[in-house]
Amino acid sequence: MELGLAGRRALVTGAGKGIGRSVVRALHAAGVHVVALSRTRADLDSLVRECPGVEPLCVDLADWEATERALSGIGPVDLLVNNAAVALLQPFLEVTKEAFDKSFEVNLRSVVQVSQIVAQSLINRGIPGSIVNVSSQASQRALTNHSVYCSTKGAMDMLTKVMALELGPHKIRVNAVNPTVVMTPMGRANWSDPQKAKSMLDRIPLGQFAEIEHVVDSILFLLSDRSGMTTGSTLPVDGGFLVT
Ligand code: NAP
Repeated sequence: MELGLAGRRALVTGAGKGIGRSVVRALHAAGVHVVALSRTRADLDSLVRECPGVEPLCVDLADWEATERALSGIGPVDLLVNNAAVALLQPFLEVTKEAFDKSFEVNLRSVVQVSQIVAQSLINRGIPGSIVNVSSQASQRALTNHSVYCSTKGAMDMLTKVMALELGPHKIRVNAVNPTVVMTPMGRANWSDPQKAKSMLDRIPLGQFAEIEHVVDSILFLLSDRSGMTTGSTLPVDGGFLVT
């Protein structure tokens, strides 16, 4: 399916590794000018070597002021992928203030901040836009040791809906994708134990984890005009996990 994204300008957060990095590769291949935001400089350097023309932006999204400064010079953007997140897993009774604050700063607060900047610029320019928030199946199901992570993603699903409500009149669509486990660096850190992986696989009707491409394809569809009447949705990319 031709998505017609060539010539557009996109900002992707968490672009250094995993899903975000693959989204940048796919958008770059589709002729999109991409601003790739991430925290580790070396990841961005190698990404720019791989995808010449991609504009790197190195900033820690947990730092509100630094993020504001970094984004002040990015020029017009009409597609945004809020992908950066941390998964700091702790039993509920051992949740620390540090893990709680860092999780909400990166996984939710930065989504508000970056989206405000991008949406305000779109509105000022009178341009339609599309925002995709990378949520998780964990937004809608309880998972052991995931109390804070699940909470950030549950909040992200509702943020997606309210943003869709308020930004719709400005022709800015806002959707989420909700993947199951994907074997990125984050996925490997949390799901490599075969017993733990089996307990999750047993709950997935299709019996497998998602490949990065499954998530990337859904994100590109939601960014494109092919999903032009879809806003406020939370699209499962979960092999059916959420139907159980
Ligand atoms: P990943 O492999 O850990 O990659 C995350 C990327 O985000 C890294 O490049 C990381 O940079 C960057 N990042 C993290 N914190 C940042 C910060 N404070 N400022 C700027 N960049 C930051 O994660 P992933 O698996 O690709 O996950 C991508 C998205 O998918 C996340 O929203 C995640 O919650 C969601 N998701 C993942 C899975 C899964 O199983 N993998 C399942 C469902 C949903 P550094 O490495 O330099 O920190």
